[in-house]
Order: sequence, then C-alpha cells, then structure tokens
Amino acid sequence: MGLLAVGTPLEWPEAKKVAGHVREWGIEQLLAIWRRAKGKERDALLWGDEIEYLVVCYDDEHRKVRLSLRQMDILDALASDQDLLKAGGGVPDVQRGAPKEGDTAPVFHAEFGRFMLEATPGKPWGIGFKDLLDVEPNMKLRRKIAKEHMADTEFPITLTTFPRLGQKDCTDPAYPVSGPKLRSQFLPDEIANPHVRFPTLAANIRWRRGRKVELNVPVFRDEKTPWPFKDPTVNYDLHNWPEDDDVRNGAAKENCIYMDAMAFGMGSCCLQITFQAKNIEEGRKMYDQLSPLGPILLALTAATPVYKGFLADTDVRWNQISRAVDDRTPEELGEQPLKNDRWRIPKSRYASNSTYISRDPRLRKEYLDPDLVVDEKLKQRLLDGGMDDLLATHFAHLFIRDPIVVFSEDLKELDLDKVDHFENLQSTNWQHMRFKPPPPGNNTGWRVEFRPMEIQITDFENAAFSIFIVLITRAILSFDLNFYIPIPRVTENMETAHARDAVLNSKFYFRKNPFPERPERPTSNSSASGTSTPSPISRPDTPLGPVEDEYELMTVNEIINGSASGFPGLIPLVESYLNSMNVDVETRCELATYLDLIRKRADGTLWSGAKWMRHFVRNHQEYKQDSVVTEGIEFDIVRAAERIAREEGRDGFGFEMLGHKR
Ligand code: ADP
Ligand code: MG
Ligand code: MG
Ligand code: MG
Ligand code: MG
Ligand code: MG
Repeated sequence: MGLLAVGTPLEWPEAKKVAGHVREWGIEQLLAIWRRAKGKERDALLWGDEIEYLVVCYDDEHRKVRLSLRQMDILDALASDQDLLKAGGGVPDVQRGAPKEGDTAPVFHAEFGRFMLEATPGKPWGIGFKDLLDVEPNMKLRRKIAKEHMADTEFPITLTTFPRLGQKDCTDPAYPVSGPKLRSQFLPDEIANPHVRFPTLAANIRWRRGRKVELNVPVFRDEKTPWPFKDPTVNYDLHNWPEDDDVRNGAAKENCIYMDAMAFGMGSCCLQITFQAKNIEEGRKMYDQLSPLGPILLALTAATPVYKGFLADTDVRWNQISRAVDDRTPEELGEQPLKNDRWRIPKSRYASNSTYISRDPRLRKEYLDPDLVVDEKLKQRLLDGGMDDLLATHFAHLFIRDPIVVFSEDLKELDLDKVDHFENLQSTNWQHMRFKPPPPGNNTGWRVEFRPMEIQITDFENAAFSIFIVLITRAILSFDLNFYIPIPRVTENMETAHARDAVLNSKFYFRKNPFPERPERPTSNSSASGTSTPSPISRPDTPLGPVEDEYELMTVNEIINGSASGFPGLIPLVESYLNSMNVDVETRCELATYLDLIRKRADGTLWSGAKWMRHFVRNHQEYKQDSVVTEGIEFDIVRAAERIAREEGRDGFGFEMLGHKR
C-alpha cells in the first residue's frame, strides 16, 4: 500500500463523470515517468518482501478470539516509538516519508482491514547471498516489534484469513452490521481502515457494480454436512438497503459459503516480493518470466481452507479477493447487452495477468491473450508519445478500468511531476504481477512485483518462499530461462490452483524446455554478477513448431523438482545457479534449509498450511463432521498459529508442515 492521499473523495456518480479525465491525466503522467526513466541503467538488483498480519485479540476466559480493530492505535504506538524512529523504522504512511537510504529498522504500514498490519524491511535487500540470511531474522524482528506495540491480549498472526470473519461477534470492539458503505449483512463498516480512501473504495465498487460484491466459495462436504448446503448465516429478511435484495435475487449460491463485502477478500494476508531490475528491459523480462510461475506458487503456498466459520472446498484466497473487488457492471460481465458500457470484460480488476511485455524475440504472438481488452485511444496516445506497442498495450489494458476513488482536490491541474492519477489506476489493478515504474523524485528504478503467494504461518516459511523467488529470478536472468506459455493457460492454471490439495493432485500447464533456443545450458562459470548480458538469441533456422507442443500438463512436484519427461525442475535450476556462483559453505547450508522446505512441500513430504489447518479442524474435539468451524475451534486454530510461529516445529507441533527444520 502506498502513501495515502487526503482530500474529499467523490461519490461514484461524480467520480464516473471524471473517469475519462483521470485516465487521460494518468496516461500523461505515465508518459512523463517513462520519458524520464526509460534510459535508466545499472540500477542495483534490490528486492524487498511484504508481510501482512491479522491482529487478533484473545478472550481466554471465554475461549474466544476476535479481530482487534486497533490498527490505528498500534500504528500510532509504532510511529511514536523513539527507538524505532532513531533506527530508521516506523510508519511511513502515518507520518514519515518513504524509507530513506540507510534505514534498517522495519517499517509498518496500514492495510485495508482495520485488523491488519503490514511490515517491510526498513530498506530493500541487496544482491548478496549473505543478505538472504538476514531475511528470516528480520521477519522475526518485525513480528516481535509489532507484538511489543500491542496490548497483552493482542497478537500479530500470519493466517491468510480470520477463520470466522463475518460471523457474529468477530471484532473487538463490536459494531452493528449493515453500515452505509459496505451494506454487508455480515460485517460492520468499521471493519475497514477508517482512512476515507478505504470505505470509499468499498462503497464505489459496490455502487459501480450496481449491487454488492458476491463471493460464493464451495463448501467442503464432510460426512455430516447438510446437503444441499444452504449457508445458514444468510439473512433473507433484511430491509435496510436496496442491496439487501441481493440475496433474495439469488446472490447466495447453493453448496457455497456466501460473503458480500470487500473486506472478505481485501482482508486477506499475503506475501509479496518486489524486485528492482537493472533497467527497463530486464524488468520487462522478469515480469514475463515470473508470470507463469504465479499459479504454481499460489498452489504451493496454499493456506486458506476456512471462510466465515466453514471449511471450504478450496485451499487458496485468490478468487475470493478477485470477487471482493469485482466492480464490473452486468453489461461488462456479459449478463446484459452492451448499452452504456464500453466493453465486455473477461476478468475482475483483481485477477491473473493478461499481458506479456518483454521485447524478447522468444515471445511469440501466439502467447498473447486473444481476449485482451485495451483502450485504443489511450494506447494511441502512448504510441504517439513514443512508447512501443507491447508496453503501450499493457498500460492501455490496465486503463480500461475506471478510477474508483477520486479526490476533487486532485482535479484542478495536471502535475507531470506527480503520479497520483497514474497510480490511481495502476494500484487498483491487482494482477499477480505488477510492473512498477520509477516514482518521481528519488533514485528508485524499474520494479516488478510478484503477488500471488499466500502468507505462511511462520517466518521460516515466509523467508523460504521469498528466498526461493529471489533465487529463481536470479537463475532466470543468469541462464536466460524461458517459461513462456500462452497467457490463457496461465489463467487456467490460476483456477486449477484453487482445488483442494492442488499442490499434490492437480496438473498445471508448464513449458517443457526452459532453456534458451540456442543452447546456453548452465555452466560452472556463468557471469559473476549473477546476471548475464542478454544473449544474442536468434531465431532458429527451422520454423517454430506449434505452440501447443512447447508445453504440457505437469504436477507441482514435476515443476519444482523435475520430471521424468525431461523438465529440469525449478529447484535443480536454482541449485545449478548456486553451483555457478561462489557461495560459501555456511551460506549454502542455510539456503538449503529453505530450498528443502519448497522441495518437500512440492513432493508431498510436507503439508501445505491449508492441509494442516483442514486436518486440525477435522480432528478437533468440537468438530461434528458438518463443515462448521466453531468459536472454540477458531480459538484453537489461532492459538496454534501463534504457537507454531513461535516454536516453528521445534516442540513437534506442526511438524507435518515444517518438518524438523533445524
Ligand atoms: P507496495 O505496497 O506498493 O507493493 P511497498 O512500499 O510496501 O509497496 O514496498 C514493497 C517492497 O519493495 C518492500 O519490501 C520494500 O522494501 C521494497 N522496495 C522498496 N524500494 C525498493 C527498490 N528500489 N527495489 C526493490 N525493492 C524495493
Ligand atoms: Mg499489503
Ligand atoms: Mg506494501
Ligand atoms: Mg499495495
Ligand atoms: Mg461492499
Ligand atoms: Mg505490494
């Protein structure tokens, strides 16, 4: 989450009138950044992670846990901690600028949910292998500092979702549901961050859509689950808002857990990694090559088996967030003929990527999304401004959306030294990769963000997945690897990743041969900088075969550990990369513990967080084989997550997930 603007937000009908204006100014700001920064070279290969927490509050006497809505108090406490400030940490969103060079202490940020907290390292990590070993201790430090600024009964927990979010009495303090912004029958408006941007975002998404957002998650059918399952928490007799008709019009689907507000999605916690590339071309390559890995890492990090007090039949959060911010109108969704809107739009503004952007000769046009919708007028403006077709297409696709929150103060004059209008669209296009242009006013370079991963219960796991993504990115650059498959296959993979135990049982489209066309196999003396100079890849003399022959269905295990049919495996590729570098023995051993977790999650030796939690629920003494996650079970899940984060399996608890790590 970036810095928060302050001002007077427009209600949707007013925002809609100025949407075209905001888009045009956003495109002008983009062109200004692009002109300033397209020639930026030799930026350092920096990276940084983001950890999101739920803040929970225990009521031990009643064996009850609630979400604490004291986000602002906790951030205030962090922001006024003199020791933290002196060490360069604190809270940039609240009172300081973006982290400065030399900052080391962690930085805390607000998030959508009033029960959430985000923490990042005080400054991005460098390219060195030693830096990788600082990640886990730093994540632990963040958790410790966060806890120190909370009440005795409060804890930061890294579960993706609060198990009974949306059930009665799930927040502290409690508020009545059905407020004017969310109009949810399950959650109060106070669930959202009070900064005017957030309730406005939720309200305007609902308003644009013409009804509440609609999340239906298939319920897990256990032995005694009533079937067909009708979500027993749905109230069909509310008459506070016109939107209360939604459920009478069929919004709640059979055999599904029904949810009706942005907080059910944007209240989820995830693990994100941002890389800085040495220049724009390298950033574009990273963006493309990491994109097909997205669904694989979603399945591998699966940690979301419970919603609103019920076991779900899915393991990950992605689609729920997608639906929680889906502002498409019935016309855009294809439910009504196009009359007032411009396009049918196949995906929510929170969805898997729809573009490739690298000027890599290996990018075949057959890989591109045939259903891509772009704003041709804005694309033309970018082309006229000198941008190339691929990048212009990418941004002209993001800019098919309306800006949701518009501050009237920002419409007075166009400031080309700012990026507010550009960021308005950019930061509300939540795709699984994000291409981040350099912000004005500092030396930051072109960045690429990897966004699909689920937050893990322990910092060990969060560090492991972060480090794995860093190392595979280095291997991609060093060996010039090629993971291209058609975008529609990546989109399908994202759906596949949702299935229960997809990490073990599902198959994903993946490229068979990741090596460059002109063989440039990993050798022991690849470039010492960790990045190769772009190899002179020329088209092979023989014509390219059909695209369909380039990829096949593989299990996550085959993708991660290698397949009999010849795919080398991402972990072996990382190992080859490490072999090619001078990594000291001690560092190599430490890295091995992280890679081992990934390897074993993929081959089934270790369980995903989702599998562990599902197992925990199903074996709980209060569980009645009816899919219901009771208050007592919830209390024990959260306590378990807290204990596992502290002990990391050393006491034997949670070892199915973690192994005996050290
Ligand atoms: P957002 O919420 O918009 O994704 P954040 O400000 O939370 O962005 O930062 C995301 C991550 O990027 C953090 O871990 C931060 O340390 C890291 N980061 C900051 N500057 C750079 C940079 N120049 N290169 C790479 N990563 C960076
Ligand atoms: Mg965040
Ligand atoms: Mg952030
Ligand atoms: Mg963000
Ligand atoms: Mg809503
Ligand atoms: Mg981020």
